[in-house]
Amino acid sequence: MMRARPHELQPGTLRVISVRMNYLPAHAFFAKTLKNPQLGYISRYALGRDYHKLLRNRLKRLGEMIQEYCEGIDINFRPFVDSAPILERPLAAKAGIGWVGKHSLILNQEAGSWFFLGELLIDLPLPVDKPLEEQCGRCVACMTTCPTGAIVEPYVVDARRCISYLTIELESAIPEEFRPLMGNRIYGCDDCQMICPWNRFSQLTNEDDFSPRQKLHTPKLIELFQWDEPTFLKITEGSAIRRIGHLRWLRNISVALGNAPYEAQIIPLLESRLGMSDVLDEHIVWAVKQQLEKRGENAIEIQTSQQKRLIRAVEKGLPRDA
Ligand code: SF4
Ligand code: SF4
Repeated sequence: MMRARPHELQPGTLRVISVRMNYLPAHAFFAKTLKNPQLGYISRYALGRDYHKLLRNRLKRLGEMIQEYCEGIDINFRPFVDSAPILERPLAAKAGIGWVGKHSLILNQEAGSWFFLGELLIDLPLPVDKPLEEQCGRCVACMTTCPTGAIVEPYVVDARRCISYLTIELESAIPEEFRPLMGNRIYGCDDCQMICPWNRFSQLTNEDDFSPRQKLHTPKLIELFQWDEPTFLKITEGSAIRRIGHLRWLRNISVALGNAPYEAQIIPLLESRLGMSDVLDEHIVWAVKQQLEKRGENAIEIQTSQQKRLIRAVEKGLPRDA
């Protein structure tokens, strides 16, 4: 109930100021990373510094500016960012930030959907904005492109199938049926936003804090899997990625390595991480199996080309070992 009643979070609240902050960096390298199975794809919102603190501080500053403007009137305000008790998407829709798309995210015809949302609860009777008209129309691009079929009907995302949930929120094993579909997505997924036609109009961020750190926009899976826990904690300091912890990070990368083309160094690398946790072990075994199967296919290909060479040699009347 609290979720629908902001005044219970901040007594005296009369309005919620809903804001957006663009996060897409200039060099997002979507296709370059997603189409290269040797690289890991990280959701573009998580490439830079964690946004929570930055956005909360900006909202606090906004509240202070309103206070300065309303000289003589004592106002109360409280900022919220990605806070469970706030229904931020319906509030953003009501405030005219955008409409709720069929992928369940907020989008707008001038800014697409690559932005964070935040709220300032305030006890001032400010004028109320009008919601925008929904403009998805007959488009279903996000639904048909979703790799796991997680958008089960317009505006309904089944979290249990969504790669964002599977790679970030889920603590236990990733159900096997989804692993091949995850490809190289190791932290979140942006497919439903990438395909959205309104994101042609998205605006890039001008916040340096959201620039990709440590080449996280194009990271090599093999290198990421070699990070030990202190390295993981150091590199992800101040980043949203840190909260999934080293084991879940390795679990996700194992899946991507299992989905990668066969490479001789992958199997020993995977095996080097055995024994850290039962969940991770199970993913490593799965990934090794995928790699072995691909090695088998390669072997068949080699055999076939050797056979072809032999046939050609026999046809030409050359010695068999030519
Ligand atoms: S984030 Fe990815 S998996 Fe989740 S609904 Fe969007 S496209 Fe599907
Ligand atoms: S891809 Fe199409 S249906 Fe999905 S949110 Fe964008 S406009 Fe709406």
